[in-house]
Amino acid sequence: MSLPTDRVLPELHRLLTAMEQCQEEIDRGPRQLRARGQTTAARQQALDDRKQALKQLRLLSDQKSLQLKSNETKLGDLRGKLNQASSNREFDAIKVQIEADQVANSVLEDEILEALEKVDLAQVDIRRLEEELAAAKVEEERYGKQIAAALPELEQRLAGLQTDLAEVETRLPPEVVPAYRRLVQAHGAGALAAVDNATCTSCYVRLTPQNAVSILQGQMMFCRTCGRLLFAADETAG
Ligand SMILES: [Zn+2]
Repeated sequence: MSLPTDRVLPELHRLLTAMEQCQEEIDRGPRQLRARGQTTAARQQALDDRKQALKQLRLLSDQKSLQLKSNETKLGDLRGKLNQASSNREFDAIKVQIEADQVANSVLEDEILEALEKVDLAQVDIRRLEEELAAAKVEEERYGKQIAAALPELEQRLAGLQTDLAEVETRLPPEVVPAYRRLVQAHGAGALAAVDNATCTSCYVRLTPQNAVSILQGQMMFCRTCGRLLFAADETAG
């Protein structure tokens, strides 16, 4: 590669930055797919909960209906007894009992109606939740296919960048390489910092005028404050 010496560090910085962006794009897919999976699971849970609640509502309304039936049988018996009452006192007592039971049954009937309304509402809810779950599943599958389709191109791009990087790295002076490797390991593209207006753009500490001039002349040096490998900011860029 015919790269001028003073372009080696900016080019390394560009390649490392592009690799980070590419890697981020590769990692983003599975991350967002997991988020969609969580949405699907949450909707499944909401549906299961609502189905369970519906079961309880039906049970309750069945119990109350059964109770009503048994009360009505009891009322029938009481009415029979009323006709056979042997005294006025007994007659009055049975009549009071019948009236009380009628009130109780009327309350029960209201409760049954209310329970049935809740059953209807729950059924509407369940249909809506089923639709939402189906939509979440479709979206999860669509996104899974999308990221699987995009992955080969991203991996290819990353591999190309890695090849270019290795090539440019051969242009580093050997004595700089170990520190460069440690910095890249720790900071990625942030291993290299542009010097702009005689200031390190990583730690924003000003360089001595002499060091600033050396950087402009393409000399390799590390920032005395943050340790980054410094290069002159591209005057034409940005
Ligand atoms: Zn610095």
